[in-house]
Amino acid sequence: MKLLEGRNAIVTGSAQGIGLAIASVLARHGASVVVSDINAEGARLAAADLKAQGHQAISVPCDVTDEHAVDALVDTCRETFGTVDVMVNNAGITRDATMAKMTLESFRTVVDVHLTGAWLGTRAAGRAMRTQGRGSIVNISSISGKVGNFGQTNYSAAKAGIVGLTKAAARELAKYDVRVNAIQPGLIRTAMTAAMPPEVLARMVADIPLGRIGEPEDIAKAVLFLSSDLSGFITGTVTEVAGGRNM
Ligand code: NAP
Repeated sequence: MKLLEGRNAIVTGSAQGIGLAIASVLARHGASVVVSDINAEGARLAAADLKAQGHQAISVPCDVTDEHAVDALVDTCRETFGTVDVMVNNAGITRDATMAKMTLESFRTVVDVHLTGAWLGTRAAGRAMRTQGRGSIVNISSISGKVGNFGQTNYSAAKAGIVGLTKAAARELAKYDVRVNAIQPGLIRTAMTAAMPPEVLARMVADIPLGRIGEPEDIAKAVLFLSSDLSGFITGTVTEVAGGRNM
């Protein structure tokens, strides 16, 4: 028996990177998946690839900062597959700069995509799930929201905000058997980390007790656990997937 057989999942920002790994792992474990991204063509290709592997998948373009688009995303999942059982708020961007150089616009943009986006996704999925009397919402925060990274006052603030959002929403939705949890990835092998100078990356990896960089699948497997009935008594938590770095 697959862990998510008969369940339907939405993953925002899943045309690439960690979101794509999450969509793939959830699909491999039986979920029908809505691949959603601001990059419509990337989402279409990712969903087509999942379908070619024998999974159920559709793509829905969506900018997570657009209230109506996020509501429509949840409606499309329900209309296509019947229910919304899993919502993963993963879409993200970075606009790094020290505070001395950061513009108000770049602060607002990052907070809007991560925090407002996760709030809109949690609200829309929460509405559908409370009617169903079942559901799991997973919000992708970051270790940056725990420790605060140099040059990331916008990103760290947004990712810490996601922790508060997750806990408050978990309290509101618990009586409907809807669980809300957050994951804080550490250093993960994605396009972002591939662009780092090798010596900087090596220094960071040396600081990871488990001695390696994380893979997108490491995050996806934690999402799978929090999405499935294996975590049925877990809500309002923050799971660090960082190889022990910044524990
Ligand atoms: P990524 O490769 O840049 O993927 C993020 C996806 O989100 C992209 O396809 C991006 O599209 C999309 N997106 C951007 N703005 C959007 C919006 N307004 N609405 C919908 N989709 C949007 O990033 P990643 O490294 O996989 O990160 C995924 C999540 O994990 C993010 O929340 C990130 O903060 C978090 N995280 C990552 C790491 C890491 O080491 N990579 C560590 C901690 C936390 P475009 O490419 O077209 O912008």
